[in-house]
Amino acid sequence: MLEELGLVPQWVLRSRRGDDHDRGTTPAEVPSAQPPAAPRTDASDSSAMPREARIAGMDWAQLKAAVRECTACRLHSARTQTVFGVGDEAADWLFIGEGPGAEEDARGEPFVGQAGRLLDNMLAAIGLKRGQDVYIANIVKCRPPGNRVPEPSEAGACDVFLRRQIALMRPRLLIALGKTAASNLLSSDASIGSLRGRLHKCGGLPLIVTYHPAYLLRNLIDKAKAWEDLCFARETMERLKAQAPAQP
Ligand code: URA
Repeated sequence: MLEELGLVPQWVLRSRRGDDHDRGTTPAEVPSAQPPAAPRTDASDSSAMPREARIAGMDWAQLKAAVRECTACRLHSARTQTVFGVGDEAADWLFIGEGPGAEEDARGEPFVGQAGRLLDNMLAAIGLKRGQDVYIANIVKCRPPGNRVPEPSEAGACDVFLRRQIALMRPRLLIALGKTAASNLLSSDASIGSLRGRLHKCGGLPLIVTYHPAYLLRNLIDKAKAWEDLCFARETMERLKAQAPAQP
């Protein structure tokens, strides 16, 4: 498994006794990582209720339909289809990437290309599997042209969807994959290097930052650090579960 990751684990978990571990609060609504957008309604919607408020009250089916029909930012015009997210809708683990690439845009599922295969191997390395207690989503749900980084306005328009997914799912732990996810979820411009190795909070939920799988494909040397991050995440999840066991 670790060989597929390009890793043989020679690393020892750091002691993180001083870290600020959270009990995994489950807020009904996750506060926005983005600056508040002006209230807005979709042209297609006859409701007078602001877009944010409408989305904050949606169930999974309504949310999926709203994402499918979304035209809130210009990314909608070039997409083949939206990429809502995939996995267990009651997952403890939520992995968040940047946005769909070409293969994801074609198939409607996040992380199905080369980076996705590495992500699957990363999950397997800590005993996880796509769809089994794991959910995978992105900061934006439409492919940015040429795979560019989403603009702040695009991430801001999509943020309300991700927040509603998080509120419905109530995961125990968020994993930000790469700079775009970390920056948007933490409202921080800090580097991945400075953000990794610590437990952060996003809307009251614990969050760990690691490298994006696509970055790791180009920077093999940092796979060792990603392995450390995965071990930290696994250890953190064990602690969170011990602190607040699942209700029977
Ligand atoms: N990169 C991402 O950030 N997300 C995907 O879904 C695919 C590639």
